[in-house]
Amino acid sequence: MIIGVLAIQGDVEEHEEAVKKAGYKAKKVKRVEDLEGIDALIIPGGESTAIGKLMKKYGLLEKIKNSDLPILGTCAGMVLLSKGTGINQILLELMDITVKRNAYGRQVDSFEKEIEFKDLGKVYGVFIRAPVVDKILSNDVEVIARDDDKIVGVKQGKYMALSFHPELSEDGYKVYKYFVENCVKNK
Ligand code: GLN
Repeated sequence: MIIGVLAIQGDVEEHEEAVKKAGYKAKKVKRVEDLEGIDALIIPGGESTAIGKLMKKYGLLEKIKNSDLPILGTCAGMVLLSKGTGINQILLELMDITVKRNAYGRQVDSFEKEIEFKDLGKVYGVFIRAPVVDKILSNDVEVIARDDDKIVGVKQGKYMALSFHPELSEDGYKVYKYFVENCVKNK
């Protein structure tokens, strides 16, 4: 199992480490050629407007959109998988959700807390200027993680999107296993 990590922006190495800790191989994806041979792709956090523009510039946007790849998007990656954010920005639009960016407000830059994750119980969530799911647009979308009344994790077929950063917590590797078992193997 080789999991690609989109290496345009964000904490790529931390994702690679977590992928390895979960028992899989990791590969950086910088250009279209790097998509060759991977079984799934992770889109890390960062700045979603910048990542979207650069994905388009490098030809990755269309390639990824039209590929059969299972995708895990975290934070900005969740934004990029969504169908809308309320502002005009380049998105993959692969999941039937809209998101609210920086949903916890500008003052709350980042925080950490335990959240309830489907089948995994409590998972430690690191939130950094995090988006949350605003609207669910189809019955194919399943909520897999919540922070009180906020939806911070969703799955739709081979796609999974999280508001938080599993690569930054001790137990986060469990989430990668969940992704592989539920989105990659069952795609
Ligand atoms: N707020 C950022 C965005 O919408 C995401 C922040 C993050 O990825 N840590 O692009």
